[in-house]
Amino acid sequence: MEMIMSDASTASKEAAPSPETPSPAKARLRKACLAFIAGTHESRRPGALHFLWWAFLISLWWCTAASLPFWNMSLSPLSGSLPDMLRFGLATLGCLVFAHMFLILLYSELLPLPAAGAATAILGIIAAVAFAFSYRYNAAMTPEMIQNALETDKREARDLMTPQLLVCFLAILLPQIPLFFRMIKARMRLRIRARMALLGICCAFLSAASLFTDFSGIAIYMREHHDARYFIAPSDAAASAVRALTTDAQSGTVERVPLDKSPLLASSRKQGRPVVIVTVVGETARAKNWGLSGYTRDTTPELKARNVINFTDVTSCGTSTAESVPCIFSAQPRSGYDKKKARAMEQLPSLISRAGVKSIWIDNQAGSKDAAAGIEEKPLAQILPGKVSSAVCPGGVCPDGALARAVKAQLDAAKGPTAIYLHMMGSHGPAYADRYPPSFQHWGPVCRQSDLRQCQLSELRNAYDNTIYYTDSVLASVIDALKERSDLDTALVYFSDHGESLGDDGFFLHGAPYAIAPEVQKKVPMIIWFSEGFQKRAGVDLKCVLRKAASPASHDNIYHTLLDLNGVSSSTYDPSLDLMRGCEKSSGS
Ligand SMILES: [Zn+2]
Repeated sequence: MEMIMSDASTASKEAAPSPETPSPAKARLRKACLAFIAGTHESRRPGALHFLWWAFLISLWWCTAASLPFWNMSLSPLSGSLPDMLRFGLATLGCLVFAHMFLILLYSELLPLPAAGAATAILGIIAAVAFAFSYRYNAAMTPEMIQNALETDKREARDLMTPQLLVCFLAILLPQIPLFFRMIKARMRLRIRARMALLGICCAFLSAASLFTDFSGIAIYMREHHDARYFIAPSDAAASAVRALTTDAQSGTVERVPLDKSPLLASSRKQGRPVVIVTVVGETARAKNWGLSGYTRDTTPELKARNVINFTDVTSCGTSTAESVPCIFSAQPRSGYDKKKARAMEQLPSLISRAGVKSIWIDNQAGSKDAAAGIEEKPLAQILPGKVSSAVCPGGVCPDGALARAVKAQLDAAKGPTAIYLHMMGSHGPAYADRYPPSFQHWGPVCRQSDLRQCQLSELRNAYDNTIYYTDSVLASVIDALKERSDLDTALVYFSDHGESLGDDGFFLHGAPYAIAPEVQKKVPMIIWFSEGFQKRAGVDLKCVLRKAASPASHDNIYHTLLDLNGVSSSTYDPSLDLMRGCEKSSGS
């Protein structure tokens, strides 16, 4: 870093007056080209790296080794034709290397040199982190993924940190270190550097032009799969981090705009037995492994015994918790969903609460992602009585099985219309085997490694299926708690926030950019259950709901269905998205 400082100060000192002797443009261009190619012509010491060489080498390292998952993704569709692969590969590499060089040159000019050196070091570390996660987990560095990472609790983070991840991180970081020490030892004049940068931009444009004129097919592919860019380290990871941090910073300060100034609770809900609607936000359950939806293994025997209505084809709004949960509870449909707008607007639980429904969000995960803003939100470990909590939730970590106990306490307190939201730990990876008590290990042997690539796919599937088997039991226990209360009219809705990849498609975990995410990350289970009292009271035509359950549905339906089930009318309600619409014999109850 010292070397950068000395160089910078000399560079800027010389750049300012620069009484350069006028020389023909050709000669100057030749000199600039030579400077670029030879690199060390102005070096003070033999063997010193020219600044441009250095910027080139570090950009090349980032755009090749650190972006390996990007190449893997973008070159695989061309694997049939070597010439196409070479032409696309070289043109894209040219664009990327020069774009990164340009970035380095730009901030080296704009920032004081210690800051420029620090920026390069930080980018180098980001490249290593992004590579490690992309390579090990196929995790794209989208703003949502970074936000998820920032909101991840210690338990989840510990599960992800494996020796193999560290090896990947060091493999990218270490080769950069000698480069840092051999940085700028040559003196560069500002004007020459600026011209070099111009040259870089020209090269980038030429590469881009050749890319999009010669390869219309691949150009269409890249436009359709532009999310592949999230695998380019470090620039896109850094940009995503900035976006995640700025959106996150805004969310705390922006006052939420009410969805509807005067949501109304149906008058019938204010009389008679209290109605309690339980909404369970599941985690990482995928429809493919859901027994009720036809999976070869019976992972949901308890729910089957409870006559729940199972929706067989439900598409999620996102592929991560941070993306899906706010989307589910926002009034916006997935198409045209604007995250910024959603963050500025009130979410459904708050709207229902304002209509006069007593509401609580009980969280057994890393928080509600602001979905519960405006209502009471409590971690499960805190809501259980002290003694129970310390016995059942060692270290504040509760099994989902404790949710039924928390629900029972809420039912005891229910004197009027009540909405209970439960946020499960569910099947959150990669430590699937830690998500269920040992007695729920129905399939084995199971994968016990956090580094999923070390496991047999069958062991991974066994561990994952056990998590679903446990979720089935948890949901059944909540339904049983509701059934016990014949003095209340109750209903339960369960859906998972997104699916999961178990290595069967080359992906692991979730959070892949939506456009390229495999179906298993987007297809989720969803069920609805009604107590007899609720069925009679609302006049639910079960056959009608069953018919709807066989048709495609999505997270878009949840907002409007929950408004209906909770008996709240609002100007934001869209009957065409309400899954109960037309299935209630009497209305307004
Ligand atoms: Zn999730």
